[in-house]
Amino acid sequence: MTHVELTKRFESLNLEVELGFSAEQTAREVQRCLNCDVQTAFSAPLCIECDACLDICPVQCLTITSNGDEADLRERLLAPATNLAQDLFVSERLPQTGRVMVKDENVCVHCGLCAERCPTAAWTWNCSTWQSPTPAPRTSSPSPSVLAEVARDDDRQVSD
Ligand code: SF4
Ligand code: SF4
Repeated sequence: MTHVELTKRFESLNLEVELGFSAEQTAREVQRCLNCDVQTAFSAPLCIECDACLDICPVQCLTITSNGDEADLRERLLAPATNLAQDLFVSERLPQTGRVMVKDENVCVHCGLCAERCPTAAWTWNCSTWQSPTPAPRTSSPSPSVLAEVARDDDRQVSD
């Protein structure tokens, strides 16, 4: 990221130091994204209803509430689920109170924080799609001089 020159920073204490990313810098930075696309899975019998996952979810797409018909349930979520085309996840009854865990998949950003925070592994990371950069395929054979150098290295290791 580009920053304001050090000497200029002292001219005004209100100066914004970080100038943000240019289009080129942004394109370079996003190449580091692993796109792991965490899929979380829920196991109702393990949930102790501590609310830690609700607390940490950055988009408020989790709610523990009493079950009900879908239209009513959609209105009672922490963030009302307005996309009717996206099914809600509704768990089986939780062991402590008989309420249910509801997740709005339309809003979940797959950050995995709920699974990381859950003390009982009721939420877990089920699977991930890992996209790793791979080297481009070799388009030509190594030159004779490189092959000769490799052979010399092999000879040296055998004689050592
Ligand atoms: S994966 Fe992230 S956004 Fe989705 S429910 Fe868990 S904490 Fe919320
Ligand atoms: S953090 Fe785990 S145990 Fe606590 S309410 Fe969420 S799922 Fe249940």
